[in-house]
Amino acid sequence: MPFLLHHPPGLVLESLQRETSTKRIPASEIAEESSNVQLVTARIRFGERCGPDVGYCDEDLCCSPAGYCGNTTAHCQAPDCQLDYGSCDANKTPQGLSTEDIPRPHVGYVPYGQEVYSCQAPYTFAMTFDDGPNQYTSDLLDILEAFNAKATFFITGVNSGKGQIDDFGRPWGKLIQRMHHGGHQIASHTWSHQDLNTITPSQRRDQLVKNEAALRNILGGFPTYMRPPYSNCDDDCLDDLAELGYHVIFFNIDTNDYKNDNPEAIQLSKDTVGDALSNSQVPLGRPFLAIGHDIHAQTVYNLTSYILRRVQDAGYRAVTVGECLNDPRDNWYRWDYRTQ
Ligand SMILES: [Zn+2]
Repeated sequence: MPFLLHHPPGLVLESLQRETSTKRIPASEIAEESSNVQLVTARIRFGERCGPDVGYCDEDLCCSPAGYCGNTTAHCQAPDCQLDYGSCDANKTPQGLSTEDIPRPHVGYVPYGQEVYSCQAPYTFAMTFDDGPNQYTSDLLDILEAFNAKATFFITGVNSGKGQIDDFGRPWGKLIQRMHHGGHQIASHTWSHQDLNTITPSQRRDQLVKNEAALRNILGGFPTYMRPPYSNCDDDCLDDLAELGYHVIFFNIDTNDYKNDNPEAIQLSKDTVGDALSNSQVPLGRPFLAIGHDIHAQTVYNLTSYILRRVQDAGYRAVTVGECLNDPRDNWYRWDYRTQ
C-alpha cells in the first residue's frame, strides 16, 4: 500500500477535522470516514501534482521528475521518474523466475564487493561503454569488429525510455546477444540507473536482481561484473554487492565523453586517452580501464575509432575487463539452469 505510506498525515487530519466540524459525525464513525478521506486524497489524478509532501499518483500513473502525474515516456522514464510517488519504468519487473535464489559463489581471485579501478595484464586497454544499448550500439559493434577489438558493456535494463532490454519487440535483446557472441563482455549497470546510495536496501537489491532476470531472458545467465551508476556506492552498498556476488568496476581513464558530445569538444576526450597512452611518466605497458557511453553519437562515430587506433599504435590490445584482470571467461556469468 505505498500510497498510504507516502501520504502526508497532516493532510488527512486536516480534511478529517473539516469533515467532522461541518457534518458532526459521531465518534464511532470517524474511523471509517478517516479511511475514505485517505483513499480520496492519496490517489492523485492525471495531470495533478505528486511527490514529497504531496503524495502518490493514481494506479498506473507515473510521477514525473517535475512532480506531475501522467503516463508519457517523459513522466515514466528512468532514472528520473519519482519511483516512490507513482509507477515508473523502474518499477516494472522482467518476466520469468527471479534470479534471487541462484547460488553466488565467489570464484576466482578478482575481489567481490570491492572497488576495482585498474587492470592487471600488461599492454591491455579495457574500453567500457555504459548506459546502453541504444540506437548507436549496432554501429559501435561494427567499428569494434573492424578493429578486432573487444569491449565491455555495462548494460542498463530500462533507462531513458528505451523500454525493457528483454522486450524482443525492440532491438536491444538481439544486440546484447550479438555482443555476447562477438566476444564482448556483458556487465550490469543496474535495472534503471538509480543512485544506489539514495534508495532503500531493498530497492538497491531490486536494481541488481531485476537486471539479472532481464539479462537471463536474453542470454540464459547474468553477469558477475557491474558498475554503479554515477560511480556512487557507499560501504553498505558494497556490502550488498558482495552478498550478491558482484565485482564492482570503476575506471582509471575517464573520457568525459558525455560532456563532450559535439565534433569540436570530443577532442578533449581524445586528448585524455592519447595523453595517457603517450605519457612517458607511466611504466611501460601499464594497463588501462577507460569509461565511455555508447548512447552518445560522438563517442560511437568519432572517439571510439580514435581510441582503438591509438591503442594499436601503442602496442596495446583492446580487451574486456575480465581479460584485463586475468579472470577466465567462465567466471564472468552465472547461468540459470532451472526449468521455468
Ligand atoms: Zn551510467
